[in-house]
Amino acid sequence: MYQYEVRRAQEFKRCIECFLCQDVCHVLRTHGKHDGFMGPAFLVRAAAYETHPLDVQDRVDYVKDEGGIGFCNITYCCTEVCPESIRITVNAIIPLKERVVDRHYDPLRRLVQLVRRRKP
Ligand code: SF4
Ligand code: SF4
Repeated sequence: MYQYEVRRAQEFKRCIECFLCQDVCHVLRTHGKHDGFMGPAFLVRAAAYETHPLDVQDRVDYVKDEGGIGFCNITYCCTEVCPESIRITVNAIIPLKERVVDRHYDPLRRLVQLVRRRKP
């Protein structure tokens, strides 16, 4: 593994689970989406595993469906309150969103899947 890969995963290990980010997130705090959205603290945990260079588990569908990552509209409130200065939105949430989009909403990928399905 490369040093940059280690650094990327280590940022999330600084999390002290204070849940300030969870508390400030308007999706949970204002809209009460506790059943549909896992929240930034757990997205940081998911990102810690997803970005670990030796981790091979696939969490993309989980983050999309059970985790409800689509509810996050990138307001950066969670990042602003993190006492460990973890760049939650930019380094954890957006890369996870990108993985979801790559798998489920990439038009080229969907076209290839369609063609493959139609083959006899
Ligand atoms: S960036 Fe997303 S997770 Fe963070 S506070 Fe805003 S809506 Fe919540
Ligand atoms: S605010 Fe930062 S340290 Fe606290 S739970 Fe969220 S990510 Fe972890």
